[in-house]
Amino acid sequence: MGSSDQSDTDSKTSKHCAKCGACTPVCPVFRASGNEIYSARGKQHLAEVFKDQQPGPVFEDIYSKCLLCGACSEVCPQHIDISDEVIEARSTFSELYGEHGYQKYLARKALNRPELLGAARVLGKSAADLLFKRLPPASGLRLRLALFAQTPAPDEVLFSPVKEAHTGGAAGELTYFPGCAAQYLYPDIIRTVSEVLNRQDYRPLIPGGLGCCGLASLASGKKDEARKLAQKNIKALELSDGPILVSCGSCFAHLAAYGKLLADDPVWRTRAQLISERVVEISVFLESLLEDEVIERDEAVKTLKVFYHDPCHMRNEAGITEEPRKVLASLKGIELLELEDGPQCCGQGGLFHVGAPELSAQIRDNLAEKIITLQPDLITSTCSGCLMQLKSAMAAMEKNIPVVHLSALVNGLSKPPDSLS
Ligand code: SF4
Ligand code: SF4
Repeated sequence: MGSSDQSDTDSKTSKHCAKCGACTPVCPVFRASGNEIYSARGKQHLAEVFKDQQPGPVFEDIYSKCLLCGACSEVCPQHIDISDEVIEARSTFSELYGEHGYQKYLARKALNRPELLGAARVLGKSAADLLFKRLPPASGLRLRLALFAQTPAPDEVLFSPVKEAHTGGAAGELTYFPGCAAQYLYPDIIRTVSEVLNRQDYRPLIPGGLGCCGLASLASGKKDEARKLAQKNIKALELSDGPILVSCGSCFAHLAAYGKLLADDPVWRTRAQLISERVVEISVFLESLLEDEVIERDEAVKTLKVFYHDPCHMRNEAGITEEPRKVLASLKGIELLELEDGPQCCGQGGLFHVGAPELSAQIRDNLAEKIITLQPDLITSTCSGCLMQLKSAMAAMEKNIPVVHLSALVNGLSKPPDSLS
């Protein structure tokens, strides 16, 4: 760790951490591992112990075991932003820090060229079609392929895609940032968002030149890389006016923080702040439509038990928890299920699932077991990473519970198909 960075961390650590331990029980990594060194208190303690030393592999590895979920900061009486501190520390680490450093590096590079994900989807789908049923349930490869081939394909079985679009309205064009996963891995998200918008006479417009939001780069401590990605998106987005709809909760939280990311750059800070002020997360947008009673609310004839998963970035960073629930409550025939002990992290954590696959799977399965106990017909969320992780959870548990983006639910239930009758 460089000396100025080190002294920054030291002053935050020795000045603020009261060692109260409030952060320990809420930390998903601690809960899965039982090892307190991974909690915020553990990391603060480690920063003190290593304050006069360059970070070695042990330090790097422990700091790599963080989902940046923000749960600790929510309960910290000293209001310490652990995610910021972890990112700051990672910015001083070697390129391939932590376990599976090379895989994380490659994943980050792939996100910088997201068109590669499209090829991965085509290859993954073909491989899934060939291999999915032949691999044993516990096979790691089978779980990865489950991201591409889930049976039944939810919106083909449960919902009839809406074909008709209303025309002639005045709502007009709406700038739309779908994120890499929707654009290259799960194009159905763009389809269902577009269909919902079309029925309200909005025409979603995905600007040319968009790239990855940059969250994975920032989480890896690669701030310059994250800033470059932000600048690329800012250039593309500022060619339009008005709200920017974002259908991924984690991308939204990161775009909303572009102002902070570029705050020290005199050329970019105002442009970044203006973009941050324009972004609107999909559930907030849908809730505003429902408030105005614009979305059709036909009676569904069968009650559907739905579990909504709160993405950590939405819950702890953006504070958006009510809106998706209000959207679901506004749809007829939905019984909303909640966990007794409240929302929990799914363990995906951007590249955390690449760098710490066993811990990630443990956190995922802890959540999945609780969800399954509720016996949902369907699981929904708005973060592409969480959807991916929950799909693999259902495959790991051999449960045929569809995992769909919130827009698919709004799209399907506003026109209930025969299969629900
Ligand atoms: S909750 Fe905050 S003050 Fe308390 S131990 Fe954790 S980081 Fe330190
Ligand atoms: S951000 Fe999340 S994973 Fe990281 S130390 Fe805090 S609670 Fe644990």
